[in-house]
Amino acid sequence: MSAELIEGEPIAERIKDEVRRAVAQMPVAPRLAAVLATDNPGAKFYAGSQQKSCAEVGIEYELHDSERAGALETADQLKAYVQALNADPGVNGIILLVPVPEGVNPREIQMEIAPQKDAEGMHPANIGRLFYGDFSLAPCTPHAVVTMLREAGVDLKGKETVVVGHSEIVGKPTLVMLLRSLMESPTVTCCHIATRDLAFHTRRADILIVAAGKAGLVRGDMLKEGAVVIDVGINRVKVEVGGKKKTRIVGDVEFEAAREVASAITPVPGGVGLVTTAMLLSNTVECARRQT
Ligand code: NAD
Repeated sequence: MSAELIEGEPIAERIKDEVRRAVAQMPVAPRLAAVLATDNPGAKFYAGSQQKSCAEVGIEYELHDSERAGALETADQLKAYVQALNADPGVNGIILLVPVPEGVNPREIQMEIAPQKDAEGMHPANIGRLFYGDFSLAPCTPHAVVTMLREAGVDLKGKETVVVGHSEIVGKPTLVMLLRSLMESPTVTCCHIATRDLAFHTRRADILIVAAGKAGLVRGDMLKEGAVVIDVGINRVKVEVGGKKKTRIVGDVEFEAAREVASAITPVPGGVGLVTTAMLLSNTVECARRQT
C-alpha cells in the first residue's frame, strides 16, 4: 500500500482565500502584533514566515522586538508591554513568539493577552470554549489537525483515535476538539511520555495523531494497516547527502515506512505546519471582527 498524501497546501490555500475575502471587506486591514523577546534564530525565522503569510492575505504584521519596544527581558516588562498592546485600538491580534528570556514563563505572558486579541487561541477563555464545541478562536495547530481530518473526508465516528503528546498547545486541545460532537466523536486515547507501551496503543489506532517532537518515534511496524496518520512533529535532523552533512526537517513518524502501511498520511514539511499558519491568519480576522 502507498498511502494517499494529505497535503497541507490546498487546505491552507482555501483558508487563505477565505481570509483574503474577509480582509477585503473590512474598512481597515487587521493588524497582528508579534512580540519577540529573544535573539533566537528559530523565532526570528518563524516571525519572517508569519510576516510573509500575513502580507499574502492583506493582514498587517508588526514585529515588536526590543529595538522597537525597549527592554523585554523580565516577566514584568513583557506583561506591561502586552497590556499596552491590549489597550492600543490599532492592534487587533497579539502573539508571543517563543522562546522567551530565561526565567520567564511564556504561559504567564500569554494569559495577559486580552482574549479578543488572542490570535493563537491559547488564552484560558478561548481554550475553555473548546469544551462547548466553540472553535471560533481555537489554538492553531489542533484546529489544523481536525480541519485536515475533515477535509480528507475521514469519518471519525467511533474510530479508535490515538493522540501521542499531551502538551497544552497541541495534544490536550486536540483531544478536546476531537470530542466536539456528542454523537459523532471518535474514541480517544492519549499517550505521552509516561505511557508504558506506546506501540500497543498506536497499533490499535484507526487514526493516529503524533505530536511528540521526537524524530522516528513512530515506526512503520507500530501502525495498523490502513490507518490515517497526522504527523504534527517538526524535527531538525542531520543527514548525510553525497558525503556532506545536511539538515532536514522530518516529523515524528518514519515517513517512508509508514506510507507502506497507512491509507493516508500528512507529509513533513508540507502538512500540518502550512495549515497551522493559515489558522493564525484566520484567527487574526476573527480577533478584528470581535473588536468592531
Ligand atoms: P512538547 O514538548 O510541549 O510536548 C511533547 C509531548 O510529547 C509531551 O506531551 C510528551 O509527554 C510527549 N512525548 C515526548 N516523548 C514521548 C515518547 N517517547 N512517547 C510518548 N510521548 C512522548 O511539544 P509540543 O509543543 O506539543 O510540540 C510537539 C511537536 O509538534 C514538536 O515537534 C513541535 O515542533 C511540533 N509542532 C508543530 C506544529 C505545526 O504547526 N506543525 C505546531 C506546534 C508544534
